[in-house]
Amino acid sequence: MFLSVKELELRKIRFDEVIEAGRIDFSGAELEQAGPLAVKGVAEVIPWSNGEIRIQGRYTVEMTAQCDRCLGRARFSLDEGLDLFYRPMSMIARDEEVEIDEGETEIGFYEKDGIELDDILREQVMLALPMQRVCREECQGICPVCGKNRNEGDCGCKKEGTDDRWRALRNLNLTE
Ligand SMILES: [Zn+2]
Ligand SMILES: [Zn+2]
Repeated sequence: MFLSVKELELRKIRFDEVIEAGRIDFSGAELEQAGPLAVKGVAEVIPWSNGEIRIQGRYTVEMTAQCDRCLGRARFSLDEGLDLFYRPMSMIARDEEVEIDEGETEIGFYEKDGIELDDILREQVMLALPMQRVCREECQGICPVCGKNRNEGDCGCKKEGTDDRWRALRNLNLTE
């Protein structure tokens, strides 16, 4: 859905969309959309702002990515609020003195006559995901010796010789 500044200058635009997997391209980010992305909200041009667009709303989606430890699928359920500000790109060129120190608010920029909601969502989804993508906190990862996924059971490989000492230490902690 394209949010046109011209239209927004006349009225607020409410949106309520369900975006099926595949429409937004996440492939470059090694992400997959696992189900429909539902988004609802309102876009407006802030009065007396020279075309600054504000977008407020909320979206939900389930994403999957490769687990950093075991290479299995890691799932992320996102339910995120949106409150975003976009200024026209031309404002930077015209007035380089403009300081961007709004503090708590993040300012983005748009080119020409508006902004595509899909692009905003793509960016927001990527920002909402954790830096480390793991299938679960306790993921055991892959055995460096035999390459087996240790979540599926103990492969029986002996770890380095210090293993028994570590076990003794752990038992000590337990009895304290
Ligand atoms: Zn994992
Ligand atoms: Zn192993």
